Amino acid sequence: MTTPVVDLFKFDDLLTPAQRELRDQVRNYMEEVVRPNINDYWESGEIALDLALGLRDLPIVGGSMQGYGCAGLDHLSSGLVKYEICRVDGSIGTIFGTHSGLTMGSISLYGSEAQKQRWLPPMARMEKLGAFALTEPHRGSDAAHILTTARRVGDHYVLNGHKRWPGNATIADLVLVWARDESGRFGGFVLEDPSELPGYSAKHIAGRITKRATHLADITLEDLHIPAANRLANCSSFRHLNAVLSHTRAGVAWEAVGLAAGCYEIALKYACEREQFGKPIAAFQLMQAKLVEMASDLAQMQLLVWRLAQLQEAGEATPGQISLAKQTCAAKARRAAALAREILGANGILLDNHVARLFTDVEATYTYEGTNEINLLIAGREITGIGAFV
Ligand SMILES: Cc1cc2nc3c(=O)[nH]c(=O)nc-3n(C[C@H](O)[C@H](O)[C@H](O)COP(=O)(O)OP(=O)(O)OC[C@H]3O[C@@H](n4cnc5c(N)ncnc54)[C@H](O)[C@@H]3O)c2cc1C
Repeated sequence: MTTPVVDLFKFDDLLTPAQRELRDQVRNYMEEVVRPNINDYWESGEIALDLALGLRDLPIVGGSMQGYGCAGLDHLSSGLVKYEICRVDGSIGTIFGTHSGLTMGSISLYGSEAQKQRWLPPMARMEKLGAFALTEPHRGSDAAHILTTARRVGDHYVLNGHKRWPGNATIADLVLVWARDESGRFGGFVLEDPSELPGYSAKHIAGRITKRATHLADITLEDLHIPAANRLANCSSFRHLNAVLSHTRAGVAWEAVGLAAGCYEIALKYACEREQFGKPIAAFQLMQAKLVEMASDLAQMQLLVWRLAQLQEAGEATPGQISLAKQTCAAKARRAAALAREILGANGILLDNHVARLFTDVEATYTYEGTNEINLLIAGREITGIGAFV
């Protein structure tokens, strides 16, 4: 039998030699270090911190951010990093994305020079791990109306409220909490060594089916004091925060493509090797229809994020384009994971075959950084000029 074709539309040809080299570095780490070890973490629900921290030896932390020890990658390279991580595992993608994208990205965009000098270099070395706390128990998609407050008292802010779902927050060295001040202005407030702070509690959310090798937290803030200097200097509205989310959402689109690629590659190999009725199951027409659907969706996703990276590089990417890319790729990745699970038959439910984990991880990808519906609505608003949600 001929070798199965993984890269049908020659996505590889769209990459520069430097981008291919970076891709291979990340792929080698994920294949050699993460793949053989990740299932134990997933099964026990323990955060795969040591596996995630190994990424600091690669020139990738901080993605496209410049200076302060950040990788300073072009947008396509930054996307490829997310693709390669998530092609093998979604939990590592979330640990990395929360730290390097959401938290470092916010500091990089809205910190003062002194704040960037102080927080970014140790984060770029992953000596200090970041968490990003926006979502609340009663404010998910409606994040513009968060209830957490930050009251100025002398040279401190006093924070009160609840946050739900932030990744890394149980163990993070820095937690970036989003809150409103007494005049209703939006702000990002950095908690340093939060577990030492009176009034901070972060409880791990157990019993999950997705991203099980991460920690997500339920946070309570009760009269928690932080220095006023820990408020991000240049951020005062939800519009500012949206700029961070737009950037990281593009990374989640790449994450979805990586998950889909991982699923497709495993399913294709399996279908070509597994025999039933005296021949490989890939020989059946119904099976080929599924594999072609996956290959077609994968090519469409790859071309979409590739074009998105070009637009980002030119400074022209719009929130609607980014949201549509995230929504499209997450929906197609969900379908790819379901098909791969199906193609592997009963073996598809076993962690050992690496599809079951991706199958559950894609559920988080579909929901976080703007749900499927919210991203559709952001794109809809851009296309029509009419906001269908407030
Ligand atoms: C694994 C994981 C990691 C996460 N990490 C973080 C993190 O690090 N930091 C953080 O702050 N948050 C994090 N989140 C939270 C995530 O961002 C939220 O789950 C997401 O914003 C959706 O909020 P919700 O779950 O409360 O759903 P809801 O907003 O309650 O939505 C429920 C359903 O209603 C739909 N819906 C809501 N409004 C509308 C509307 N106007 N029109 C149509 N449909 C609508 C939604 O699409 C969804 O299907 C994480 C979540 C997960 C699963």
